[in-house]
Amino acid sequence: MPADWDSNPRAAGVLRNAAMLERRPPVNEVLAFPVVCEQVGCRFDAAGPHWTHGTKDMIERADKAGVLITYPGGTPVRTRG
Ligand SMILES: [Zn+2]
Repeated sequence: MPADWDSNPRAAGVLRNAAMLERRPPVNEVLAFPVVCEQVGCRFDAAGPHWTHGTKDMIERADKAGVLITYPGGTPVRTRG
């Protein structure tokens, strides 16, 4: 499901994440590919390594919704993400 970056450049990713979890029939699994954020000047840099923000958001949403989260690339190294 693509994000609508033209309509809402700042929130399109998280809105897309929410929409994916609200689909019917319900989503029963989320495949996550977390990687460490390398965004230059990221506002969270001072706190140390963390996952990319959109993936972190989706993992948190899926976890809260009780949806199975699978990491096809292997279990990620847990950062503060
Ligand atoms: Zn970041």
